[in-house]
Amino acid sequence: MYEVLVWFQGLSIPIAFLTMLVFFPTWKNRIHAYLFIFTLSVTVNNLGYFLVMIANNPDDALWATKIEYLGKLFISAALLFFMTEYTGARISEYTKRTVVIIHAIIGVFVFTCEHHTMYYENGPQFREAWTTEGLYPHIVHEHGIFYYIYVMMVAGYLIFSIVSAVRQLLNERRRKRKVQTAIIIACGLVMVAGMAVYSTGILGGYDATVISYLICLVLMIIATIKYDLIAALDAVKNYIADNMTEGIVAVDTEGAIIYNNVISERIYPTLKDRDEGVISQLIEAIDKDEVINIKKNYYRVEQSELTNERKSLGKLYVIDDITIEYNHNKELKLRSITDGMTGLLNRTETLRRIEESMNANGVALVMIDIDNFKMVNDSFGHDVGDTVIKGVANIMLNLTYTNPKLSAGRWGGEEFMLVMPGIQIDEAVETAEKIRMEFAKTEFQYAGFRTVSLGVTVYAEGDDADGFCKRADEALYISKQEGKNKVTIK
Ligand code: GH3
Ligand code: MG
Ligand code: MG
Repeated sequence: MYEVLVWFQGLSIPIAFLTMLVFFPTWKNRIHAYLFIFTLSVTVNNLGYFLVMIANNPDDALWATKIEYLGKLFISAALLFFMTEYTGARISEYTKRTVVIIHAIIGVFVFTCEHHTMYYENGPQFREAWTTEGLYPHIVHEHGIFYYIYVMMVAGYLIFSIVSAVRQLLNERRRKRKVQTAIIIACGLVMVAGMAVYSTGILGGYDATVISYLICLVLMIIATIKYDLIAALDAVKNYIADNMTEGIVAVDTEGAIIYNNVISERIYPTLKDRDEGVISQLIEAIDKDEVINIKKNYYRVEQSELTNERKSLGKLYVIDDITIEYNHNKELKLRSITDGMTGLLNRTETLRRIEESMNANGVALVMIDIDNFKMVNDSFGHDVGDTVIKGVANIMLNLTYTNPKLSAGRWGGEEFMLVMPGIQIDEAVETAEKIRMEFAKTEFQYAGFRTVSLGVTVYAEGDDADGFCKRADEALYISKQEGKNKVTIK
């Protein structure tokens, strides 16, 4: 019987180890992490117990016991975290940390047991506790206070976990999830059974909890992998993330990309290679409160903090395609500042630009009025008049295409204003002459050749916008007085 138990115990080590290997590639989330810690602890526990059984002197047996307990300690904590996470019974990070610290302290006591009596009452006298009674030679420990605290904690975990799992089972309608939860409850019960069997002593000193942990492990792996709703949940999350309209990029606290959805890769193809240059672009756009322009599309970025119970985990960037809105706004803005018929700026915008450009660097104004325009309207009709107005506008627009610093506006019906920032009088007059001559040689259908009169002025210290424009108008008036088709400077 002893031989059989040793073989059985020895076999449980590769079983636990292989389970760990099978499980490892599918590792995905927190539940899996707890399961992994559980598996690792079970492996250590079984290994320790195997060594206990084959030890042939008290020293080896004591060391083996220590290894066994090291595993055992974390089995219960991992099981608690696993079961509560699984059943959705929330326990705070603070509680978890406290539990881990208490277990670690107990672990220290286990390993230093010869110097105190908290864990093993008969620690220093363990040689006398070495016995060959029962199935195999082993140490019969008398346990100290910490051992009982530990047993009570484990009992508490089991009750808490089983109760929350049962509650989950009662509320659960989905069949698959029911099976999963039932398996988890079975785990708890198997553990209780293992403890009960051990305490009766019917196995001649053999610790049945070691085997119950192994059974639990296999059950938990089945629940997690075979009935893997957790993977389905991940699939749901991915589906949602990839079918959003926004691009999503998450970075850790050091700025390394930890996640991005498919949409973000459509916006930034280099994200496939985890290109962190993208993140600096996003940060820059946020800092400057700017819209990102990529080809013909415009994106707005929003940043939020990723936290877990107040602890920062990194940042989440949401990239929203606002091209339609952006173009619409641009169109509205454009419409609000331009004159529909000519495409020139309207009077309000022209005035705004004049005010904006009035400074010591100088700005020149060229005011233009079509000569004898009433006659065009009267003789050929309003439509013909309009084509003549557009004729002046086109000459002015061409000037702004070659020099984008210039602003060309429609000041009134057939009056126009060219705003030339940073330009001195000579150049302004030259431009005015160019406009005059070019217009004069433009032939219009019906209206034939027409002329314009122009007034030129430059900004003078102390000018207000009204006085400045008025001077251009006065210069223009002089051109009219002096026979039209002419440029006057004032
Ligand atoms: P002057 O040489 O002194 O400038 O004489 P003018 O006949 O051109 O006189 P004025 O500059 O006062 O002409 C204004 C006329 O422009 C009056 C109005 O009927 C006409 N007008 C104003 N807006 C429009 C428009 O959008 N289309 C057309 N066809 N005519 C317009
Ligand atoms: Mg006029
Ligand atoms: Mg006129």
